[in-house]
Amino acid sequence: GNSRRIADNSSRHAVRQAFSYAAHRKPPRAAFLNGALLIETSLEPLPLLDWTQEVERLGGRRRDEVWGPRTIDIDIVLMSDVVLRSPRLELPHPRSAYRRFMIEPAAEIAPEWIHPHVGWTLRELDQFLRTTPCYAVIVGGATAEREALVQRVQERVSLRWLRRADSMSLAALH
Ligand code: ADP
Ligand code: MG
Repeated sequence: GNSRRIADNSSRHAVRQAFSYAAHRKPPRAAFLNGALLIETSLEPLPLLDWTQEVERLGGRRRDEVWGPRTIDIDIVLMSDVVLRSPRLELPHPRSAYRRFMIEPAAEIAPEWIHPHVGWTLRELDQFLRTTPCYAVIVGGATAEREALVQRVQERVSLRWLRRADSMSLAALH
């Protein structure tokens, strides 16, 4: 009921091919298939999360283990240019800027969309993630804590800091 009603109110713009990625957590698991969907909706962020979680439940998702095996995982990567940090929902998705499996499919359908954490378009971010063999990301903590860590890393390795935003720092290693 709920999912149908919301689906009727929202228009689906594009879904492209799914990309397959190896699971990176232990123990080794089956690969994930990732795809991106672009929708236009009048829902506020939290009601949209209610809806995606309802769809996950309908898809047989059980939430007993963080990052555990799942039949379906729906993440809200970006919502216009909204930046939100609340206990249930963070926008952009807090780990999206450096996850190729999120950026690659999203860049395919919305290449000009600017990722608020990085200030780059998804195309630029996708290009970076594809072509930089080694990169480092520091996420979370307070800005001062991250800066201290950045300082210590810089003493040991040659790197180029690309972005030092409120919640994350991203660097290319040489
Ligand atoms: P992940 O998607 O990182 O593998 P989960 O799917 O288990 O992890 O999600 C854990 C929690 O993350 C969800 O219960 C949800 O409340 C929260 N969350 C925070 N921001 C987002 C977002 N942008 N999209 C989806 N879930 C989010
Ligand atoms: Mg999720």
